[in-house]
Amino acid sequence: MVSGIGPGQHLAERSVQILLDRQGVGQNLQDHPLLSISSYLSREARADGASRRNFAYLRYSSGMAEGWDSDMIMMAICRSSWHAVGRRIGTLSANLAYAFSRGAVRISSTGIDTGPEVAFNWLADKRDRDRMVDAFHRMARIYGTGDVSRFASFPFMSSYSARVRVLQQNTFRNTFLTNMGAALMESSKTVRRLMIENYIQDTPPLKTLLSDRDLLEAYICRNVGSTFHPVGTCRLGAEDDPLAVTAPDSRVIGTQNIFVADASLMPEITRTNTNIPAIMIGEKVADLIKETT
Ligand SMILES: Cc1cc2nc3c(=O)[nH]c(=O)nc-3n(C[C@H](O)[C@H](O)[C@H](O)COP(=O)(O)OP(=O)(O)OC[C@H]3O[C@@H](n4cnc5c(N)ncnc54)[C@H](O)[C@@H]3O)c2cc1C
Repeated sequence: MVSGIGPGQHLAERSVQILLDRQGVGQNLQDHPLLSISSYLSREARADGASRRNFAYLRYSSGMAEGWDSDMIMMAICRSSWHAVGRRIGTLSANLAYAFSRGAVRISSTGIDTGPEVAFNWLADKRDRDRMVDAFHRMARIYGTGDVSRFASFPFMSSYSARVRVLQQNTFRNTFLTNMGAALMESSKTVRRLMIENYIQDTPPLKTLLSDRDLLEAYICRNVGSTFHPVGTCRLGAEDDPLAVTAPDSRVIGTQNIFVADASLMPEITRTNTNIPAIMIGEKVADLIKETT
């Protein structure tokens, strides 16, 4: 867009010279919206020796998205961060493997040098909200089963909040603070509960959320986050499709020699992680360019 290819009116509003008016540039933004319930893990359930976070991955069909099988993913994650508190917190996360909501990327109103405005619009579509509410209930039920509750206690809705982001930085201060926090957590069950309820969680208790659909939906919308899988803003399509940006050979429609070779080509997000598909797109487009030039 800052090079002059995009929705003409928007470019003009941002004082960018229009080279090619293509309405679809920046539209159709998709992701795998994510929601988590975390809990305190007892010592034997932790993965203290693991060099990185381990994920167990469950793919399932909600039965609530007509025509879509495997529309949901649930993950069990053995620790939440590098630090001492994060090593004691495990997480169940659910994400929409296929979401109906669409977002958009635009040039910032404060100018082209300040980065884009990104509006994901996660859960704007009711079908997405309903499936997240359902996923939340499923995760809560898992925490309630005997085998899990023996090892994972005090479950709470978690999010990548400002406080979590600050503690995520591997600094001396954070090491010190989280070592202190972890020592307190280990001191007694009561202290652990008080810490989780008063310091770690910033949402109402699970029981309250589960008994009030409107409250739950409001908190889900507030705490939904990204899996960092943004795709779709230069989607492929037929040459006469006014909202397509790229032709099936990945060339920008209306140009001779500009090609796109990344995850923004995807018309619809892949039903799982995007990194390998993005690499496949790169390889395929490289072959196509060799054939056509
Ligand atoms: C924190 C994080 C964790 C992730 N974890 C996973 C995971 O576990 N599994 C998985 O499958 N996927 C994961 N992803 C998603 C995955 O990384 C992306 O889907 C994938 O990298 C997309 O590839 P891409 O080529 O479309 O974009 P990118 O990999 O983002 O490549 C875009 C490139 O363009 C360059 N660039 C940008 N602007 C310009 C410019 N103006 N001029 C020149 N160059 C420019 C950038 O520097 C970058 O190198 C993760 C993403 C993030 C951010």
